[in-house]
Amino acid sequence: MATWNDLAELMFPDVKETIDDLKNKFPERNGVCTRFAPSPTGYLHIWGLFSCFTSWRFAKQNNGTLILRIEDTDQKRQIEWWTEFLLNALKNFGIGFDEWNLWANWEDVWDYGPYTQSQRKYFYRVFAKHLVAKWLAYPCWMTTEEIEKIRAQQELAKIMPWIYGNYSIYRNKTVDELVEMVKQNPDYIVRFRSHGDANKKIVFEDILRWKVSMWDNYNDIVLLKSDGLPTYHLAHITDDTLMKVTHIIRAEEWLTSVPLHLQLFQAFDLPAPKYCHLAQILKVDEETGKKRKISKRKDPEANVEFLLEHGFAVQWILDYLYTIMDSWFEEWQKENLDKTFLDREFALENMNKSWALIDLVKMEQVNNSYLSRISTDQLLKEWLVWAEKYNTDLADLIKSDIDYARSALNIERHTEKDPKRFYTFKDIDTQLRFFFDSEREKLVKNDELRVKSEDGKINWFGDFDMNVMKNFIDEYLNVLDFGMTTEERFDQLKQIGKKYGFASNNAEFKEWWYIWKIWDLAMFLRLALCASKRTPDLFSVMKVMWKERVENRLKWVIRLE
Ligand code: GLU
Repeated sequence: MATWNDLAELMFPDVKETIDDLKNKFPERNGVCTRFAPSPTGYLHIWGLFSCFTSWRFAKQNNGTLILRIEDTDQKRQIEWWTEFLLNALKNFGIGFDEWNLWANWEDVWDYGPYTQSQRKYFYRVFAKHLVAKWLAYPCWMTTEEIEKIRAQQELAKIMPWIYGNYSIYRNKTVDELVEMVKQNPDYIVRFRSHGDANKKIVFEDILRWKVSMWDNYNDIVLLKSDGLPTYHLAHITDDTLMKVTHIIRAEEWLTSVPLHLQLFQAFDLPAPKYCHLAQILKVDEETGKKRKISKRKDPEANVEFLLEHGFAVQWILDYLYTIMDSWFEEWQKENLDKTFLDREFALENMNKSWALIDLVKMEQVNNSYLSRISTDQLLKEWLVWAEKYNTDLADLIKSDIDYARSALNIERHTEKDPKRFYTFKDIDTQLRFFFDSEREKLVKNDELRVKSEDGKINWFGDFDMNVMKNFIDEYLNVLDFGMTTEERFDQLKQIGKKYGFASNNAEFKEWWYIWKIWDLAMFLRLALCASKRTPDLFSVMKVMWKERVENRLKWVIRLE
């Protein structure tokens, strides 16, 4: 009569080591160890960044270790390319790992590798063999049709679904029968033999949620698939045990699997790590108005690259994620303007339990307050890094006259009047481009600067009589004095404007000889100088442009007719 050990030997003849042998190969760690364990997708998802950032912050706060583990048991993708892409993308956010590996035949520099699951097949086999030998797992040949038939029966009878008890065709076979079957057909999967009680709730601890109560697992889940690769569940137990991970920080959607995972740890006679299940990131669906999980396929803002291209600052994205991690962070930041989140103590247990809502408009507003807060030098520095990638022509222009650009950028910054011009890095384009002569020449051709009059003639800068405006420009340039205050300058403009038909206020405008108001005159100057309707304080702009440039630009207008 065969034993379960015989069956295990038959199924895993290549496996000579035990779990204990493996455990001894990997030294004990001192202190905290956690991991970021993404499955390869096309890009870096905002939630991925959020959970990785949390794990990284937690590890750093505790002088611990952060591992990058690639969970590629489902996805057939180009792992090496993707891992490198991921490492670079995270590096951009200042997040680095203590342990990882890139290449399949990498001679592991770190003790606990390899860190890519498709390269760890042997370890999963050691673990699976252990359970078979202990009668806690069995081979299974159930076909998809058989499984579907059972599911239909269960649905009809309104009983709990899935493969368990007598619904599992091979669970109750004798070991002799199984040995025979394995000999005849090596194409099987391996199932866990669960002894969970479906009518019982178990209570476990989650760092964030404290005590959680949940129905026990009763399902004979798959441990090894027919391609020899493990399911998430077996891989979680194997990898986190051998890599000596102390804290599992992962998505809330795994919370319901904890009873199963605890059952598995128990079956292996292994201690379970600490769990922390993070809240998901939601958005309000445009069509239904309801909250839903942010989706890789539907929502461009799920893609971190999209957010970067959209012009959100790297540091700000981290601040934003930190506000999700720590509800008190925003308040703290207002009182600690010179500090970053690195100066703030981080504790997993203080994190937000509720789902975070992502909203592009709100994000722009908060990004705006970040860009308004940092120094002009910092803004220029961060923008340049961004623009080198996303706005190269303006980056080149700005580098050609960096002091001029800095003065232009500095207008009204950190003042009461700060118009908060920059919602994203993209806005810097509209605010700075016109300062450069070559660009202003192009911008000035904008349609909004031209008005077609009744006789079909195109007038520049609106419907003004250009002969009158020429005289105004001559006079204005003669008296232009950069030493004046803003008030003095505005008074001066009002006085001159009156002569040319521009009322200096609404009351004056009622008098018959005025055709325009002072604001029209200011707009004329604005368009002539900046080729844009939206600019910061005009006199400050003129001061930065300085006399010669102002003269050239206004005289250019005179020459137009
Ligand atoms: N590969 C899993 C996922 O992407 C990781 C979950 C975990 O952190 O354990 O969902």
